[in-house]
Amino acid sequence: MATETERGAVATYIPPLARIDPKQFGLCVVTADGEIHSAGEAEEAFSIQSVSKVFALTQALGKIGDTLWRRVGREPSGTPFNSIVQLEREQGIPRNPFINAGALVVADVNLAGHAPRVAIGELLRFVRYLAEDETILIDEHVARSEQETGFRNVALANYMRAFANLTHPPELTLGVYFHQCAIAMSCRQLAMAGRYLMLGGLLEPGGARVISAQRARRINALMLTCGHYDASGDFAFRVGLPGKSGVGGGILAIAPGKASIAAWSPGLNENGNSKLGTLALERIAEATGWSVFSPA
Ligand code: GLN
Repeated sequence: MATETERGAVATYIPPLARIDPKQFGLCVVTADGEIHSAGEAEEAFSIQSVSKVFALTQALGKIGDTLWRRVGREPSGTPFNSIVQLEREQGIPRNPFINAGALVVADVNLAGHAPRVAIGELLRFVRYLAEDETILIDEHVARSEQETGFRNVALANYMRAFANLTHPPELTLGVYFHQCAIAMSCRQLAMAGRYLMLGGLLEPGGARVISAQRARRINALMLTCGHYDASGDFAFRVGLPGKSGVGGGILAIAPGKASIAAWSPGLNENGNSKLGTLALERIAEATGWSVFSPA
């Protein structure tokens, strides 16, 4: 059973997440001029889970560009992250790349032309490059647990394969997806990795271009509208920044031109988003005035 506390309940669908101490909290803000401000357990690595969908989407867009949008939509789903209900009516095309069905299509794109271990290695290298940190690893124990219990994801993958919207054997695509969810990062590493979304596609101010400014803008738009599943509207209302959550309790939020922020606290609300992490971001937005809805 979930250990319900005032900080929310930790995810219990796999043992490695169920064992996490819900009292932990970390925060890291990397500003546009490169300052790093950390608080709490900002150096503690946690399972980034669905936050990985941002990096995987960036990778997939780099591979096939806007043709991706023939296979996945760009609308908020209004349904939980692992919902299957819209897929039948919509012919196996997921509503957006951040619900699980959409992330599986993205994983399938990233798998094209590779063995699964090469595809996941490529994503890990990309994340290390973004964070400028070679120590980031995949937690194999988490990946294995995902594989053992991910029956809903298996169902989603098979269902989309039936509509020919997965092009590989589902078990291979699922292997890539489960491993990307198992990437472990600290708040500092995550906030560093998110800089390209605050800087219009640049790795660092005046640095290498990771993606075009337009693509960075669009990924931010998707994070704002779809990054918190059926609570995306509430997150936009309370925080006012593009954000992507994961069931490990991490949230990456972007204040364009101002900051890349990572918050982590393992206790989740009823939508599977970090309860304290959301509250922390709400307070930061309030204190700084950072919002995509404010003048300048
Ligand atoms: N591994 C989880 C799943 O696929 C990720 C979900 C999430 O972080 N929202 O169910």
